[in-house]
Amino acid sequence: MEALKQKIRDEGIVLSEQVLKVDAFLNHQIDPVLMQQIGHEFAQRFAGQGISKIVTIEASGIAPAVMAGLELGVPVIFARKYQSLTLKNDLYISKVFSFTKQTESTIAISAKHLSSADHVLLVDDFLANGHAAKALIDVIGQAGASIAGIGVVIEKSFQAGRAELDALGYRVESLARISSLEAGQVDFLDE
Ligand code: 5GP
Repeated sequence: MEALKQKIRDEGIVLSEQVLKVDAFLNHQIDPVLMQQIGHEFAQRFAGQGISKIVTIEASGIAPAVMAGLELGVPVIFARKYQSLTLKNDLYISKVFSFTKQTESTIAISAKHLSSADHVLLVDDFLANGHAAKALIDVIGQAGASIAGIGVVIEKSFQAGRAELDALGYRVESLARISSLEAGQVDFLDE
């Protein structure tokens, strides 16, 4: 998605060879026009798939997920993060290791929002090693819901997540695919 790639070139900050900062438009300050285009792009890519719900994880996945939900006309659920959580009957729970914080947290979705009748599009802001996506796949599986695919705003293709999700057989649609963050520079896969 060219508008997104241009925004990354213009306003993305390479913090290290592993981390790209996009807090000017995606996960602190939000560019609503770009977010709307992102939602439109996800909706086009997953049109006709019978998606009934979008699932994401707080906080940074919410903006693109809501825009995709608006375009597809379906509700958006965001998994909530807890420092610790004892098992409860009415929650689907999984553990996720945070790439940016390097800590483990528990994520949960209320059982009342997701069921085996749902066909889910999973959305997140970044795909790095795939921990967030796999934790969401886990909670969606606990609900007995099926997964139409995974929509990622920014994929760092040089990290393990994309290959692992491919190997698990999921359809992954990434709107910008970064092949390297070396030498303080963003290189895209398809350039
Ligand atoms: P993963 O679970 O795939 O290893 O990492 C994805 C999660 O970590 C995303 O939900 C995102 O919030 C965060 N993340 C991973 N890489 C980056 C990055 O380069 N920049 C930012 N801002 N967040 C990232």
